[in-house]
Amino acid sequence: MIDGHGTEKAILVDSTRCTACRACQIACKQWNQNPAERTTNLGSYENPPSLGSNTWMRILFNEHFNGQMSWLFTKHQCMHCTDAACVEVCPSGATKHEKFNLADGSIIKRVATDPKKCIGCNYCRAVCPFDVPGYNQKKKGVYRCTLCLDRVSNAMDGYDTPACVKACAPGALLFGGRQELLYRAELKVEQLKKAGVAEAQVYGKDQLGGLRYLYVLSASPEKYALPVNPSVPASVKLWKSMARPYGGLAAVGLVAAMVVNGVINARNRGLEEKNKLDK
Ligand code: SF4
Ligand code: SF4
Ligand code: SF4
Repeated sequence: MIDGHGTEKAILVDSTRCTACRACQIACKQWNQNPAERTTNLGSYENPPSLGSNTWMRILFNEHFNGQMSWLFTKHQCMHCTDAACVEVCPSGATKHEKFNLADGSIIKRVATDPKKCIGCNYCRAVCPFDVPGYNQKKKGVYRCTLCLDRVSNAMDGYDTPACVKACAPGALLFGGRQELLYRAELKVEQLKKAGVAEAQVYGKDQLGGLRYLYVLSASPEKYALPVNPSVPASVKLWKSMARPYGGLAAVGLVAAMVVNGVINARNRGLEEKNKLDK
């Protein structure tokens, strides 16, 4: 046992064990009572095509062709970043870091958005390096993975792990102390390297100050559609200090809009599918 009292919880995704059965995706919807969405077949097993207010996690089918077709599967959801761009940019203070003490003395740290404070500006969507949040007009808020706090904080018999982890029969998902999970991940990477998987690596240990999802990857992060060096743009880090002297939500919003427009122009990403789902 590496983690003791006060340990921070995390989820380890061992991508080398994932079979893309998507039981986790369904369990997430079921537990959180999120309805299924009508989608279009885009010629891939990947479905739905993006996260949204009713889809808080999904499995990415990253297709690679090297003589024959192969897939690398990524569990895609909010990473609950320590340095979270969505928290930095939020002009209304709706999106923030939260910390909860569990009955066993461990801690859950996550990022969440208060729908009552959310003004629907969608700046969090523009700056998230993992393309996670999005404002929903009908539900009037931004929704993301909750780390199943409602399950794990009650620690009801059989419900002491997140729904996605509980559903994963191949054992690709583990919930536990972050240090212990890191140790396991590094051990697995060592084994993979010995077996000739030269690109094997741990993802999430240091990115953005540490993610609450850790990954064992058998190839470079790009091949899993994960950014190698995700970062919070310097302009986003600076903007609150620029806006604060002027006070008021309007002034704050104006500075945020300028910053976010800069980020959007720089990244020029297509978010049309997500827009469709979130209407
Ligand atoms: S339940 Fe486990 S094996 Fe199935 S898709 Fe999810 S992570 Fe992969
Ligand atoms: S993954 Fe995106 S939405 Fe989640 S905490 Fe990080 S920046 Fe925010
Ligand atoms: S931890 Fe809970 S909310 Fe997050 S992806 Fe898993 S099932 Fe969904």
